[in-house]
Amino acid sequence: MTERSVDAVIVGAGFGGLYMLHRLRKLGLTAQVVEAGDGVGGTWYWNRYPGARCDIQSLEYSYQFSDELQQQWDWSERYATQPEILRYINHVADRFELRRDVRFNTRVTTADFGETKNRWKVGTDTGDTFDTRFVVMATGCLSSANLPPIPGLASFSGDRYHTGRWPHEPVDFTGKRVAVIGTGSSAIQSIPLIAQQAKTLTVFQRTANYSVPAHNKPHDPEKVAELKARYPEYRAQNRQTAFHADFNYSEINVLDVSAAERNAEYEQRWTHGGLPFMASFADLMFVPEANQTAAEFIRGKIRQIVKDPATAKKLTPSGLVGCKRLCVDTNYYATYNLPHVSLVDINEEPIETVTTEGIRTRQQDYGFDAIVFATGFDAMTGSMTRVAIRGRGGRAIQDAWAEGPKTYLGLSVNGFPNLFMITGPGSPSVLTNMLPSIEHHVDWIADCIDWTNQQKVAAIEADAQAQENWVTHVNEVGDTSVYPRCNSWYLGSNVPGKPRVFMPYLGFPPYAEKCRQVVEAGYDGFIKQPEVA
Ligand code: NAP
Repeated sequence: MTERSVDAVIVGAGFGGLYMLHRLRKLGLTAQVVEAGDGVGGTWYWNRYPGARCDIQSLEYSYQFSDELQQQWDWSERYATQPEILRYINHVADRFELRRDVRFNTRVTTADFGETKNRWKVGTDTGDTFDTRFVVMATGCLSSANLPPIPGLASFSGDRYHTGRWPHEPVDFTGKRVAVIGTGSSAIQSIPLIAQQAKTLTVFQRTANYSVPAHNKPHDPEKVAELKARYPEYRAQNRQTAFHADFNYSEINVLDVSAAERNAEYEQRWTHGGLPFMASFADLMFVPEANQTAAEFIRGKIRQIVKDPATAKKLTPSGLVGCKRLCVDTNYYATYNLPHVSLVDINEEPIETVTTEGIRTRQQDYGFDAIVFATGFDAMTGSMTRVAIRGRGGRAIQDAWAEGPKTYLGLSVNGFPNLFMITGPGSPSVLTNMLPSIEHHVDWIADCIDWTNQQKVAAIEADAQAQENWVTHVNEVGDTSVYPRCNSWYLGSNVPGKPRVFMPYLGFPPYAEKCRQVVEAGYDGFIKQPEVA
Protein backbone atom coordinates (compact mmCIF):
# COMPACT_ATOMS: atom_id res chain seq x y z
CA MET A 1 0.00 0.00 0.00
CA THR A 2 1.37 3.37 -0.98
CA GLU A 3 0.39 6.98 -0.44
CA ARG A 4 1.21 9.51 -3.15
CA SER A 5 0.84 13.25 -2.87
CA VAL A 6 -0.29 15.07 -6.02
CA ASP A 7 -1.94 18.29 -7.09
CA ALA A 8 -4.94 16.49 -8.56
CA VAL A 9 -6.53 13.06 -8.61
CA ILE A 10 -8.63 12.43 -11.69
CA VAL A 11 -11.13 9.61 -11.38
CA GLY A 12 -11.59 7.76 -14.68
CA ALA A 13 -9.49 7.36 -17.83
CA GLY A 14 -12.17 8.02 -20.42
CA PHE A 15 -12.26 10.97 -22.78
CA GLY A 16 -12.70 13.41 -19.87
CA GLY A 17 -10.03 12.04 -17.57
CA LEU A 18 -7.34 11.77 -20.24
CA TYR A 19 -7.78 15.29 -21.54
CA MET A 20 -7.89 16.59 -17.95
CA LEU A 21 -4.53 14.95 -17.31
CA HIS A 22 -3.10 16.49 -20.47
CA ARG A 23 -4.29 19.99 -19.47
CA LEU A 24 -3.06 19.78 -15.88
CA ARG A 25 0.34 18.57 -17.01
CA LYS A 26 0.59 21.55 -19.33
CA LEU A 27 0.03 23.76 -16.27
CA GLY A 28 3.01 22.08 -14.63
CA LEU A 29 0.85 20.28 -12.06
CA THR A 30 1.14 16.69 -10.91
CA ALA A 31 -1.95 14.62 -11.61
CA GLN A 32 -2.84 10.99 -11.06
CA VAL A 33 -5.59 9.30 -13.02
CA VAL A 34 -7.18 6.34 -11.23
CA GLU A 35 -9.06 3.89 -13.45
CA ALA A 36 -11.03 0.76 -12.49
CA GLY A 37 -10.50 -0.93 -15.87
CA ASP A 38 -7.24 -2.26 -17.27
CA GLY A 39 -7.30 0.14 -20.20
CA VAL A 40 -8.29 3.65 -21.22
CA GLY A 41 -11.60 4.50 -22.89
CA GLY A 42 -14.22 4.76 -20.17
CA THR A 43 -17.63 4.08 -21.66
CA TRP A 44 -15.96 2.74 -24.82
CA TYR A 45 -13.85 0.39 -22.73
CA TRP A 46 -16.89 -1.15 -20.98
CA ASN A 47 -19.60 -1.08 -23.66
CA ARG A 48 -18.30 -3.78 -26.02
CA TYR A 49 -21.65 -5.28 -26.90
CA PRO A 50 -22.32 -6.24 -30.52
CA GLY A 51 -23.22 -3.20 -32.61
CA ALA A 52 -21.93 -0.58 -30.16
CA ARG A 53 -21.09 2.59 -32.03
CA CYS A 54 -21.53 6.32 -31.56
CA ASP A 55 -24.69 8.10 -32.65
CA ILE A 56 -22.91 11.39 -33.33
CA GLN A 57 -20.85 11.58 -36.52
CA SER A 58 -17.30 10.46 -35.78
CA LEU A 59 -15.83 13.60 -37.37
CA GLU A 60 -17.54 15.49 -34.54
CA TYR A 61 -17.32 12.80 -31.86
CA SER A 62 -13.60 13.39 -31.44
CA TYR A 63 -11.21 15.75 -29.67
CA GLN A 64 -10.46 19.16 -31.14
CA PHE A 65 -7.84 20.37 -28.65
CA SER A 66 -5.08 19.28 -31.01
CA ASP A 67 -5.45 20.34 -34.62
CA GLU A 68 -2.69 17.91 -35.64
CA LEU A 69 -4.61 15.06 -34.04
CA GLN A 70 -7.89 15.92 -35.72
CA GLN A 71 -6.17 16.39 -39.07
CA GLN A 72 -4.14 13.18 -38.88
CA TRP A 73 -6.70 10.77 -37.49
CA ASP A 74 -8.91 9.11 -40.12
CA TRP A 75 -12.32 7.76 -39.18
CA SER A 76 -13.47 5.01 -41.50
CA GLU A 77 -17.23 5.40 -41.14
CA ARG A 78 -19.85 8.06 -40.53
CA TYR A 79 -20.59 6.55 -37.10
CA ALA A 80 -17.50 4.87 -35.66
CA THR A 81 -17.75 1.45 -34.08
CA GLN A 82 -16.75 0.88 -30.46
CA PRO A 83 -13.48 -0.87 -31.47
CA GLU A 84 -12.52 2.06 -33.70
CA ILE A 85 -13.29 4.61 -30.94
CA LEU A 86 -11.25 2.53 -28.50
CA ARG A 87 -8.34 2.48 -30.98
CA TYR A 88 -8.63 6.25 -31.23
CA ILE A 89 -8.51 6.88 -27.50
CA ASN A 90 -5.60 4.45 -27.14
CA HIS A 91 -3.84 6.38 -29.89
CA VAL A 92 -4.46 9.62 -27.97
CA ALA A 93 -3.12 8.06 -24.76
CA ASP A 94 0.06 6.99 -26.60
CA ARG A 95 0.48 10.15 -28.62
CA PHE A 96 0.38 12.40 -25.56
CA GLU A 97 2.17 9.88 -23.32
CA LEU A 98 -0.70 9.81 -20.87
CA ARG A 99 -0.51 6.21 -19.65
CA ARG A 100 2.38 6.74 -17.25
CA ASP A 101 0.10 8.79 -14.98
CA VAL A 102 -2.82 6.34 -15.04
CA ARG A 103 -3.19 3.78 -12.26
CA PHE A 104 -5.19 0.96 -13.90
CA ASN A 105 -7.18 -1.83 -12.19
CA THR A 106 -7.80 0.49 -9.27
CA ARG A 107 -11.21 1.73 -8.20
CA VAL A 108 -11.61 4.89 -6.15
CA THR A 109 -13.80 3.97 -3.19
CA THR A 110 -13.54 6.98 -0.86
CA ALA A 111 -12.67 10.67 -0.95
CA ASP A 112 -12.49 12.62 2.32
CA PHE A 113 -11.96 16.34 2.56
CA GLY A 114 -9.68 17.55 5.35
CA GLU A 115 -10.63 21.07 6.34
CA THR A 116 -7.46 22.04 8.16
CA LYS A 117 -5.21 21.60 5.14
CA ASN A 118 -7.87 21.88 2.42
CA ARG A 119 -6.74 18.60 0.95
CA TRP A 120 -8.53 15.41 -0.04
CA LYS A 121 -7.57 11.92 0.93
CA VAL A 122 -8.59 9.53 -1.83
CA GLY A 123 -8.86 5.82 -1.03
CA THR A 124 -8.91 2.91 -3.47
CA ASP A 125 -9.85 -0.75 -3.48
CA THR A 126 -6.18 -1.75 -3.70
CA GLY A 127 -5.45 0.05 -0.43
CA ASP A 128 -3.34 2.72 -2.15
CA THR A 129 -4.24 6.26 -1.15
CA PHE A 130 -3.62 9.71 -2.56
CA ASP A 131 -3.23 13.00 -0.77
CA THR A 132 -4.37 15.69 -3.18
CA ARG A 133 -5.50 19.28 -3.41
CA PHE A 134 -8.04 18.73 -6.18
CA VAL A 135 -10.30 15.86 -7.16
CA VAL A 136 -11.80 15.75 -10.65
CA MET A 137 -14.58 13.23 -11.15
CA ALA A 138 -14.25 12.16 -14.77
CA THR A 139 -16.54 9.23 -14.14
CA GLY A 140 -18.95 9.70 -17.02
CA CYS A 141 -22.71 10.11 -17.16
CA LEU A 142 -23.56 6.57 -18.14
CA SER A 143 -21.14 4.28 -16.38
CA SER A 144 -22.89 2.71 -13.39
CA ALA A 145 -24.68 -0.30 -14.82
CA ASN A 146 -28.30 -0.75 -13.75
CA LEU A 147 -29.14 -4.41 -13.13
CA PRO A 148 -32.83 -4.68 -12.24
CA PRO A 149 -33.54 -6.60 -9.02
CA ILE A 150 -35.46 -9.41 -10.72
CA PRO A 151 -35.96 -12.31 -8.29
CA GLY A 152 -33.96 -15.46 -8.99
CA LEU A 153 -31.20 -13.76 -10.99
CA ALA A 154 -28.43 -15.63 -9.21
CA SER A 155 -30.03 -19.01 -9.93
CA PHE A 156 -29.75 -18.77 -13.73
CA SER A 157 -27.47 -21.53 -15.02
CA GLY A 158 -26.83 -19.97 -18.43
CA ASP A 159 -24.68 -16.96 -19.36
CA ARG A 160 -25.61 -13.51 -18.13
CA TYR A 161 -24.43 -10.25 -19.68
CA HIS A 162 -24.98 -6.53 -19.19
CA THR A 163 -24.37 -4.40 -22.29
CA GLY A 164 -22.44 -1.88 -20.17
CA ARG A 165 -20.13 -4.56 -18.74
CA TRP A 166 -19.53 -6.69 -21.81
CA PRO A 167 -16.72 -9.29 -21.64
CA HIS A 168 -13.44 -8.64 -23.43
CA GLU A 169 -13.47 -12.08 -25.00
CA PRO A 170 -15.69 -12.55 -28.07
CA VAL A 171 -19.20 -13.75 -27.19
CA ASP A 172 -20.69 -16.23 -29.65
CA PHE A 173 -24.46 -16.70 -29.55
CA THR A 174 -24.49 -19.23 -32.42
CA GLY A 175 -27.09 -21.92 -31.79
CA LYS A 176 -28.18 -20.31 -28.51
CA ARG A 177 -31.57 -19.30 -27.18
CA VAL A 178 -31.02 -15.69 -26.16
CA ALA A 179 -33.14 -13.22 -24.17
CA VAL A 180 -32.58 -9.47 -24.28
CA ILE A 181 -34.21 -7.40 -21.54
CA GLY A 182 -34.66 -3.74 -22.44
CA THR A 183 -35.24 -1.76 -25.62
CA GLY A 184 -33.07 1.35 -25.17
CA SER A 185 -30.16 2.43 -27.39
CA SER A 186 -27.90 -0.45 -26.32
CA ALA A 187 -30.59 -3.04 -27.02
CA ILE A 188 -31.58 -1.43 -30.29
CA GLN A 189 -27.98 -1.51 -31.51
CA SER A 190 -27.27 -5.06 -30.35
CA ILE A 191 -30.55 -6.87 -31.15
CA PRO A 192 -30.05 -6.99 -34.97
CA LEU A 193 -26.54 -8.46 -34.53
CA ILE A 194 -27.46 -10.92 -31.79
CA ALA A 195 -30.32 -12.07 -34.04
CA GLN A 196 -27.82 -12.89 -36.80
CA GLN A 197 -26.21 -15.51 -34.55
CA ALA A 198 -28.84 -16.72 -32.12
CA LYS A 199 -31.01 -19.77 -32.66
CA THR A 200 -33.87 -17.85 -31.08
CA LEU A 201 -34.01 -14.30 -29.75
CA THR A 202 -36.72 -13.15 -27.35
CA VAL A 203 -36.84 -9.45 -26.49
CA PHE A 204 -38.53 -8.37 -23.25
CA GLN A 205 -39.84 -4.85 -23.69
CA ARG A 206 -41.14 -2.55 -20.94
CA THR A 207 -41.53 0.61 -23.03
CA ALA A 208 -41.59 0.71 -26.81
CA ASN A 209 -38.97 3.09 -28.14
CA TYR A 210 -38.57 5.40 -31.10
CA SER A 211 -35.62 4.79 -33.36
CA VAL A 212 -34.46 6.31 -36.63
CA PRO A 213 -32.12 4.64 -39.10
CA ALA A 214 -28.42 5.52 -38.89
CA HIS A 215 -27.72 5.02 -42.60
CA ASN A 216 -24.17 4.47 -41.57
CA LYS A 217 -21.64 4.30 -44.42
CA PRO A 218 -17.93 4.51 -45.14
CA HIS A 219 -16.60 8.05 -45.31
CA ASP A 220 -16.21 9.70 -48.67
CA PRO A 221 -12.53 10.84 -48.68
CA GLU A 222 -13.35 13.96 -50.69
CA LYS A 223 -16.01 15.09 -48.22
CA VAL A 224 -13.68 14.41 -45.29
CA ALA A 225 -10.89 16.44 -46.92
CA GLU A 226 -13.30 19.29 -47.56
CA LEU A 227 -14.42 19.28 -43.93
CA LYS A 228 -10.90 18.98 -42.55
CA ALA A 229 -9.90 22.04 -44.56
CA ARG A 230 -12.33 24.06 -42.43
CA TYR A 231 -12.34 21.97 -39.24
CA PRO A 232 -12.02 24.80 -36.68
CA GLU A 233 -14.75 26.80 -38.43
CA TYR A 234 -16.99 23.71 -38.56
CA ARG A 235 -16.47 23.09 -34.84
CA ALA A 236 -17.19 26.74 -34.05
CA GLN A 237 -20.44 26.59 -36.04
CA ASN A 238 -21.59 23.52 -34.16
CA ARG A 239 -20.77 25.17 -30.83
CA GLN A 240 -23.57 27.66 -31.55
CA THR A 241 -26.23 24.94 -31.63
CA ALA A 242 -28.27 23.52 -28.76
CA PHE A 243 -26.82 20.00 -29.13
CA HIS A 244 -23.32 21.20 -30.02
CA ALA A 245 -23.55 19.17 -33.20
CA ASP A 246 -24.11 19.43 -36.94
CA PHE A 247 -27.83 18.65 -37.00
CA ASN A 248 -28.84 21.13 -39.67
CA TYR A 249 -31.26 22.83 -37.29
CA SER A 250 -34.42 24.17 -38.85
CA GLU A 251 -35.81 27.51 -37.70
CA ILE A 252 -39.29 26.71 -39.00
CA ASN A 253 -42.05 25.60 -36.64
CA VAL A 254 -43.85 22.43 -37.57
CA LEU A 255 -47.23 23.97 -36.83
CA ASP A 256 -46.55 26.69 -39.43
CA VAL A 257 -46.28 24.30 -42.38
CA SER A 258 -48.73 21.99 -44.16
CA ALA A 259 -48.89 18.27 -43.44
CA ALA A 260 -47.35 17.56 -46.86
CA GLU A 261 -44.38 19.89 -46.23
CA ARG A 262 -43.89 18.48 -42.78
CA ASN A 263 -43.88 14.88 -43.98
CA ALA A 264 -41.50 15.72 -46.82
CA GLU A 265 -39.06 17.15 -44.27
CA TYR A 266 -39.38 14.08 -42.01
CA GLU A 267 -38.91 11.78 -44.99
CA GLN A 268 -35.78 13.64 -46.08
CA ARG A 269 -34.35 13.48 -42.52
CA TRP A 270 -35.28 9.80 -42.21
CA THR A 271 -33.42 9.11 -45.46
CA HIS A 272 -30.41 11.14 -44.27
CA GLY A 273 -30.43 9.21 -40.98
CA GLY A 274 -29.49 9.81 -37.38
CA LEU A 275 -30.29 12.29 -34.62
CA PRO A 276 -30.67 15.32 -36.95
CA PHE A 277 -34.22 13.99 -37.35
CA MET A 278 -35.04 15.82 -34.12
CA ALA A 279 -33.87 19.11 -35.63
CA SER A 280 -36.45 18.88 -38.46
CA PHE A 281 -38.44 21.71 -36.90
CA ALA A 282 -37.67 24.30 -34.24
CA ASP A 283 -40.62 23.50 -31.97
CA LEU A 284 -40.39 19.69 -31.89
CA MET A 285 -38.88 19.51 -28.43
CA PHE A 286 -40.99 22.33 -27.02
CA VAL A 287 -44.57 21.92 -28.21
CA PRO A 288 -46.24 18.56 -27.58
CA GLU A 289 -48.61 18.86 -30.58
CA ALA A 290 -45.63 19.57 -32.83
CA ASN A 291 -43.73 16.66 -31.33
CA GLN A 292 -46.67 14.32 -31.95
CA THR A 293 -46.38 14.89 -35.71
CA ALA A 294 -42.81 13.54 -35.67
CA ALA A 295 -43.88 10.73 -33.35
CA GLU A 296 -46.69 9.78 -35.73
CA PHE A 297 -44.30 9.81 -38.68
CA ILE A 298 -42.05 7.25 -36.96
CA ARG A 299 -45.05 5.18 -35.87
CA GLY A 300 -46.09 5.02 -39.52
CA LYS A 301 -42.60 3.78 -40.44
CA ILE A 302 -42.79 1.05 -37.79
CA ARG A 303 -46.14 -0.11 -39.17
CA GLN A 304 -44.65 -0.20 -42.68
CA ILE A 305 -41.49 -2.08 -41.69
CA VAL A 306 -42.85 -4.67 -39.25
CA LYS A 307 -44.94 -7.25 -41.09
CA ASP A 308 -46.81 -8.87 -38.22
CA PRO A 309 -49.47 -6.35 -37.10
CA ALA A 310 -49.52 -7.61 -33.50
CA THR A 311 -45.73 -7.21 -33.18
CA ALA A 312 -45.87 -3.83 -34.92
CA LYS A 313 -48.49 -2.71 -32.42
CA LYS A 314 -46.33 -3.74 -29.46
CA LEU A 315 -43.30 -1.98 -30.96
CA THR A 316 -45.19 1.25 -31.58
CA PRO A 317 -44.63 3.85 -28.85
CA SER A 318 -47.55 6.03 -27.87
CA GLY A 319 -45.85 8.98 -26.17
CA LEU A 320 -43.70 11.85 -27.32
CA VAL A 321 -40.52 11.31 -29.30
CA GLY A 322 -37.08 12.42 -28.15
CA CYS A 323 -37.90 13.18 -24.52
CA LYS A 324 -36.41 9.78 -23.90
CA ARG A 325 -33.22 9.76 -25.92
CA LEU A 326 -34.00 8.96 -29.55
CA CYS A 327 -32.30 5.75 -30.68
CA VAL A 328 -30.36 5.36 -33.89
CA ASP A 329 -30.35 1.90 -35.45
CA THR A 330 -29.40 -0.35 -38.29
CA ASN A 331 -32.27 -2.75 -39.09
CA TYR A 332 -33.81 -2.69 -35.61
CA TYR A 333 -37.51 -2.86 -36.47
CA ALA A 334 -36.92 -5.16 -39.48
CA THR A 335 -35.24 -7.68 -37.19
CA TYR A 336 -38.68 -8.54 -35.78
CA ASN A 337 -39.66 -9.89 -39.23
CA LEU A 338 -37.21 -12.78 -38.75
CA PRO A 339 -38.99 -16.00 -37.82
CA HIS A 340 -36.73 -16.76 -34.84
CA VAL A 341 -37.14 -13.32 -33.22
CA SER A 342 -40.04 -12.60 -30.88
CA LEU A 343 -41.16 -9.80 -28.61
CA VAL A 344 -42.69 -10.01 -25.14
CA ASP A 345 -44.40 -6.92 -23.77
CA ILE A 346 -43.80 -7.23 -20.05
CA ASN A 347 -46.73 -4.95 -19.29
CA GLU A 348 -49.02 -7.68 -20.64
CA GLU A 349 -46.79 -10.53 -19.52
CA PRO A 350 -44.77 -9.44 -16.48
CA ILE A 351 -41.52 -11.17 -15.61
CA GLU A 352 -42.02 -12.98 -12.30
CA THR A 353 -38.62 -14.53 -11.80
CA VAL A 354 -35.45 -15.71 -13.44
CA THR A 355 -35.20 -19.50 -13.08
CA THR A 356 -32.25 -21.86 -13.49
CA GLU A 357 -33.46 -22.52 -17.04
CA GLY A 358 -34.56 -19.07 -18.15
CA ILE A 359 -37.34 -16.57 -17.42
CA ARG A 360 -40.79 -17.18 -15.94
CA THR A 361 -43.46 -14.65 -16.82
CA ARG A 362 -46.95 -14.60 -15.41
CA GLN A 363 -48.05 -16.63 -18.47
CA GLN A 364 -45.25 -19.10 -19.21
CA ASP A 365 -41.71 -20.43 -18.75
CA TYR A 366 -39.08 -19.54 -21.37
CA GLY A 367 -35.85 -21.52 -21.66
CA PHE A 368 -32.67 -19.54 -22.41
CA ASP A 369 -28.97 -20.22 -22.76
CA ALA A 370 -28.09 -16.56 -22.30
CA ILE A 371 -29.75 -13.43 -20.91
CA VAL A 372 -28.55 -10.01 -22.01
CA PHE A 373 -29.47 -7.14 -19.72
CA ALA A 374 -29.67 -3.99 -21.83
CA THR A 375 -31.18 -2.22 -18.85
CA GLY A 376 -29.11 0.93 -18.85
CA PHE A 377 -27.44 2.92 -16.11
CA ASP A 378 -27.89 4.78 -12.87
CA ALA A 379 -27.28 7.80 -15.06
CA MET A 380 -25.53 11.06 -14.22
CA THR A 381 -25.35 10.56 -10.45
CA GLY A 382 -24.52 6.85 -10.05
CA SER A 383 -20.82 7.17 -10.66
CA MET A 384 -20.62 9.95 -8.05
CA THR A 385 -22.81 8.40 -5.37
CA ARG A 386 -21.15 4.98 -5.64
CA VAL A 387 -17.98 6.57 -4.26
CA ALA A 388 -18.05 7.48 -0.53
CA ILE A 389 -17.30 11.18 -1.07
CA ARG A 390 -17.33 13.21 2.15
CA GLY A 391 -16.95 16.98 2.06
CA ARG A 392 -16.96 19.64 4.77
CA GLY A 393 -18.04 18.33 8.16
CA GLY A 394 -17.87 14.77 6.83
CA ARG A 395 -21.09 15.28 4.83
CA ALA A 396 -21.66 12.49 2.33
CA ILE A 397 -22.54 13.31 -1.28
CA GLN A 398 -25.42 10.84 -0.99
CA ASP A 399 -26.92 13.04 1.76
CA ALA A 400 -26.24 16.28 -0.10
CA TRP A 401 -28.05 14.80 -3.11
CA ALA A 402 -30.80 12.95 -1.24
CA GLU A 403 -33.48 14.97 -3.10
CA GLY A 404 -31.63 14.75 -6.40
CA PRO A 405 -28.32 16.17 -7.56
CA LYS A 406 -27.59 19.77 -6.59
CA THR A 407 -24.70 21.44 -8.35
CA TYR A 408 -23.58 24.81 -9.59
CA LEU A 409 -23.14 24.62 -13.38
CA GLY A 410 -22.76 20.83 -13.12
CA LEU A 411 -19.17 21.54 -12.16
CA SER A 412 -19.09 22.02 -8.39
CA VAL A 413 -21.11 21.13 -5.28
CA ASN A 414 -21.52 23.30 -2.20
CA GLY A 415 -19.72 21.70 0.75
CA PHE A 416 -17.28 19.81 -1.49
CA PRO A 417 -14.40 22.25 -2.06
CA ASN A 418 -11.81 21.69 -4.78
CA LEU A 419 -13.87 18.87 -6.24
CA PHE A 420 -15.01 19.20 -9.84
CA MET A 421 -17.18 17.08 -12.08
CA ILE A 422 -16.73 16.73 -15.83
CA THR A 423 -20.21 16.89 -17.43
CA GLY A 424 -21.93 16.63 -14.06
CA PRO A 425 -25.70 16.89 -13.53
CA GLY A 426 -26.86 20.44 -14.16
CA SER A 427 -24.67 20.82 -17.26
CA PRO A 428 -25.71 20.16 -20.88
CA SER A 429 -23.68 16.90 -21.00
CA VAL A 430 -25.98 14.17 -22.32
CA LEU A 431 -28.12 16.66 -24.26
CA THR A 432 -25.10 17.46 -26.41
CA ASN A 433 -22.33 15.90 -28.38
CA MET A 434 -20.34 14.67 -25.37
CA LEU A 435 -16.84 15.16 -26.76
CA PRO A 436 -16.85 18.95 -27.17
CA SER A 437 -18.83 19.29 -23.94
CA ILE A 438 -16.14 17.29 -22.15
CA GLU A 439 -13.45 19.51 -23.64
CA HIS A 440 -15.37 22.63 -22.62
CA HIS A 441 -15.56 21.41 -19.01
CA VAL A 442 -11.96 20.26 -18.86
CA ASP A 443 -10.77 23.62 -20.15
CA TRP A 444 -12.98 25.45 -17.66
CA ILE A 445 -11.72 23.32 -14.73
CA ALA A 446 -8.06 23.61 -15.77
CA ASP A 447 -8.39 27.39 -16.07
CA CYS A 448 -10.10 27.55 -12.67
CA ILE A 449 -7.37 25.51 -10.99
CA ASP A 450 -4.74 27.70 -12.60
CA TRP A 451 -6.58 30.80 -11.39
CA THR A 452 -6.69 29.53 -7.79
CA ASN A 453 -2.92 29.09 -7.93
CA GLN A 454 -2.35 32.55 -9.32
CA GLN A 455 -4.78 34.20 -6.88
CA LYS A 456 -3.57 32.18 -3.89
CA VAL A 457 -7.02 30.69 -3.32
CA ALA A 458 -6.76 27.61 -1.11
CA ALA A 459 -10.24 26.27 -1.75
CA ILE A 460 -13.07 26.98 -4.16
CA GLU A 461 -16.60 25.62 -4.04
CA ALA A 462 -20.13 26.45 -5.18
CA ASP A 463 -21.91 29.01 -3.04
CA ALA A 464 -25.11 27.49 -1.54
CA GLN A 465 -27.42 30.22 -2.89
CA ALA A 466 -25.82 30.24 -6.34
CA GLN A 467 -26.25 26.46 -6.43
CA GLU A 468 -29.91 26.68 -5.35
CA ASN A 469 -30.58 29.31 -8.04
CA TRP A 470 -28.84 27.17 -10.66
CA VAL A 471 -30.85 24.05 -9.82
CA THR A 472 -34.07 26.10 -10.07
CA HIS A 473 -32.91 27.52 -13.41
CA VAL A 474 -32.02 24.07 -14.80
CA ASN A 475 -35.53 22.90 -13.97
CA GLU A 476 -37.22 26.02 -15.31
CA VAL A 477 -35.39 25.66 -18.63
CA GLY A 478 -36.15 21.92 -18.71
CA ASP A 479 -39.84 22.67 -18.09
CA THR A 480 -40.03 24.80 -21.25
CA SER A 481 -39.42 21.60 -23.20
CA VAL A 482 -41.09 18.21 -23.54
CA TYR A 483 -38.16 16.42 -21.84
CA PRO A 484 -39.75 16.12 -18.38
CA ARG A 485 -42.89 14.56 -19.90
CA CYS A 486 -41.42 11.06 -20.34
CA ASN A 487 -40.10 8.53 -17.90
CA SER A 488 -36.45 8.57 -18.81
CA TRP A 489 -33.00 8.26 -17.31
CA TYR A 490 -32.69 12.06 -17.77
CA LEU A 491 -35.13 12.15 -14.82
CA GLY A 492 -33.73 9.12 -13.00
CA SER A 493 -37.05 7.34 -13.46
CA ASN A 494 -35.42 4.12 -14.73
CA VAL A 495 -33.94 3.40 -11.30
CA PRO A 496 -36.45 2.44 -8.58
CA GLY A 497 -36.43 4.94 -5.70
CA LYS A 498 -34.27 7.56 -7.46
CA PRO A 499 -35.63 11.11 -6.96
CA ARG A 500 -37.36 12.36 -10.09
CA VAL A 501 -35.38 15.43 -11.13
CA PHE A 502 -34.49 16.62 -14.62
CA MET A 503 -30.71 16.42 -14.49
CA PRO A 504 -29.16 17.86 -17.67
CA TYR A 505 -29.17 21.52 -18.69
CA LEU A 506 -30.93 22.21 -21.95
CA GLY A 507 -28.99 24.28 -24.47
CA PHE A 508 -25.25 24.50 -24.92
CA PRO A 509 -24.76 28.13 -26.10
CA PRO A 510 -26.46 29.88 -23.12
CA TYR A 511 -24.69 27.47 -20.78
CA ALA A 512 -21.27 28.23 -22.25
CA GLU A 513 -22.04 31.95 -22.06
CA LYS A 514 -23.00 31.61 -18.38
CA CYS A 515 -19.72 29.75 -17.67
CA ARG A 516 -17.80 32.52 -19.42
CA GLN A 517 -19.58 35.25 -17.44
CA VAL A 518 -18.92 33.46 -14.15
CA VAL A 519 -15.18 33.49 -14.89
CA GLU A 520 -15.21 37.06 -16.12
CA ALA A 521 -16.80 38.11 -12.83
CA GLY A 522 -14.01 36.43 -10.82
CA TYR A 523 -15.74 33.08 -10.40
CA ASP A 524 -19.07 34.57 -9.45
CA GLY A 525 -21.19 32.18 -7.39
CA PHE A 526 -18.17 30.41 -5.94
CA ILE A 527 -16.81 30.69 -2.40
CA LYS A 528 -13.11 31.46 -2.59
CA GLN A 529 -11.13 30.74 0.55
CA PRO A 530 -7.78 32.57 0.53
CA GLU A 531 -4.53 30.86 1.45
CA VAL A 532 -3.36 31.60 4.97
CA ALA A 533 -0.19 33.70 4.70
P1 NAP B 1 -31.65 2.86 -21.45
O1 NAP B 1 -31.87 3.80 -22.55
O2 NAP B 1 -31.89 3.31 -20.07
O3 NAP B 1 -32.54 1.58 -21.76
C1 NAP B 1 -32.73 0.60 -20.80
C2 NAP B 1 -33.85 -0.29 -21.23
O4 NAP B 1 -34.03 -1.28 -20.23
C3 NAP B 1 -35.16 0.44 -21.38
O5 NAP B 1 -35.88 -0.10 -22.44
C4 NAP B 1 -35.83 0.17 -20.04
O6 NAP B 1 -37.22 0.25 -20.07
C5 NAP B 1 -35.39 -1.25 -19.81
N1 NAP B 1 -35.46 -1.63 -18.41
C6 NAP B 1 -34.86 -1.03 -17.37
N2 NAP B 1 -35.17 -1.66 -16.21
C7 NAP B 1 -35.99 -2.68 -16.57
C8 NAP B 1 -36.66 -3.67 -15.84
N3 NAP B 1 -36.58 -3.74 -14.51
N4 NAP B 1 -37.42 -4.56 -16.53
C9 NAP B 1 -37.51 -4.47 -17.86
N5 NAP B 1 -36.93 -3.55 -18.61
C10 NAP B 1 -36.17 -2.65 -17.96
O7 NAP B 1 -30.17 2.27 -21.47
P2 NAP B 1 -29.19 2.05 -22.72
O8 NAP B 1 -29.91 1.43 -23.85
O9 NAP B 1 -27.99 1.39 -22.22
O10 NAP B 1 -28.85 3.51 -23.15
C11 NAP B 1 -28.53 4.52 -22.21
C12 NAP B 1 -27.98 5.72 -22.92
O11 NAP B 1 -26.64 5.48 -23.29
C13 NAP B 1 -28.66 6.08 -24.21
O12 NAP B 1 -29.88 6.76 -24.03
C14 NAP B 1 -27.60 6.91 -24.88
O13 NAP B 1 -27.54 8.21 -24.37
C15 NAP B 1 -26.35 6.15 -24.48
N6 NAP B 1 -26.08 5.15 -25.52
C16 NAP B 1 -25.72 5.64 -26.74
C17 NAP B 1 -25.50 4.76 -27.74
C18 NAP B 1 -25.12 5.29 -29.05
O14 NAP B 1 -25.84 5.16 -29.98
N7 NAP B 1 -24.00 5.90 -29.17
C19 NAP B 1 -25.64 3.41 -27.57
C20 NAP B 1 -26.00 2.95 -26.33
C21 NAP B 1 -26.23 3.84 -25.31
P3 NAP B 1 -37.96 1.64 -19.76
O15 NAP B 1 -37.78 2.46 -21.00
O16 NAP B 1 -39.35 1.26 -19.47
O17 NAP B 1 -37.25 2.26 -18.58
